[in-house]
Amino acid sequence: MTRAIALVDCNNFFVSCERVFRPDLEGKPVVVLSNNDGCVVSRSQEVKNLGMKMAVPWYQMRDMARRHGIIAFSSNYTLYADLSNRVMSLLAQFSPDQEVYSIDESFLDLTGIPDNHTQYAQRIRETIRRCVGIPVCVGIASSKTLAKLANHIAKKNPRFGSVCDFNALSEKELNELFAAIDVREVWGVGRRSADSLNGMGIHSVLDLKRASAKRLREKFSVVQERIVNELNGVACLELDDVVPDKQQIICSRSFGALTSLLPDLEQAVVAYATRAAEKLRQQHSLADGIQVYIRTNPHKGRDPQYQQSVLMPLPEPTDDTRLLCHAALHGLRRIYRAGYAYQKAGVMLSGIIPASTRPRTLFDNAVAQEKSHTLMRTLDRINRSMGSGTIKLLGEGTDTSWAMRRDHRSKRYTTEWSELALCPA
Ligand SMILES: [Mg+2]
Repeated sequence: MTRAIALVDCNNFFVSCERVFRPDLEGKPVVVLSNNDGCVVSRSQEVKNLGMKMAVPWYQMRDMARRHGIIAFSSNYTLYADLSNRVMSLLAQFSPDQEVYSIDESFLDLTGIPDNHTQYAQRIRETIRRCVGIPVCVGIASSKTLAKLANHIAKKNPRFGSVCDFNALSEKELNELFAAIDVREVWGVGRRSADSLNGMGIHSVLDLKRASAKRLREKFSVVQERIVNELNGVACLELDDVVPDKQQIICSRSFGALTSLLPDLEQAVVAYATRAAEKLRQQHSLADGIQVYIRTNPHKGRDPQYQQSVLMPLPEPTDDTRLLCHAALHGLRRIYRAGYAYQKAGVMLSGIIPASTRPRTLFDNAVAQEKSHTLMRTLDRINRSMGSGTIKLLGEGTDTSWAMRRDHRSKRYTTEWSELALCPA
């Protein structure tokens, strides 16, 4: 039986999320900016048509934006993550085998599903559109690499109606499509290897498909050999349906404005350690150390520069926000030097283990552990249902003028009671 792997990819995901609650933005040029309103990270089709490229600094675009009436949003990751979860859990209903590949992409194994796969994929699209409001494209093929490519074609060629099933096309039709696509579009072909491939006379996807896998393995690595095999329909990559627990949890961010004050850094570090502890508890893990780092802005070469980090070991593995923040603050005070304009701080948890494998020690205080566990679970439950940050450590402070700049952020429509979308009376 031919493998049928679908790649479902949300169109212009962040922009589409913004439009879910602002249908008036349909058909208008919209962009979403990265943290601190730095660069363009998501563009609506209208903006792509204007020729605005990805990742350009926003301040360079202000003129163009004004001329064309481009509407800009600060990134609202709370909203995007929540809508992503909704999309992914709906997709899970369409296949016994799902790999969530990124915030807006998921592989689904459709092998053995007896329906016509093009129609099946159209049903997927309608369901996501109706239940979440996000437009998606679907590519289907016999390998993951081909499914990625099929998705690319579904996006770019309107004649496919947003679904492209390579398994339903003839070899001749496929080769015609492949001849027209740059080899750079192939999943796993980086810019550097694309240049080398060009040097070998390989320019289109068809060229790569017809290249000798063995020769590419000799010249590059087993990765390129695998790509050629996958392009020829030989599946080498399996669906990875188990999301491994994170072995590293990092929370760091650049500040909206530089600060040289220790209290500002303390608030930031408590806020990041709090987020990190939440992530740790979400995956039912413990950490036995927390690293803190601070740095000035390396792009301001004239200013005095300083960066330092320190790893603070904990007496025993924990997921208690209070213990992690306490250690992080100790670390911060150890590395902080006055007289520098700091741009960024961060924390990283280390020695992460599953909570179920907590080592028992002679000095274990079972009562204290149970109390901590209950408190943290209660904290998480309240913050989940009432909105994040409803209960927090005082150390996070109430004045967050150091925090990220998000001048154009939309509301957190789906996760904060106070920001729910309201019907006009
Ligand atoms: Mg996408």
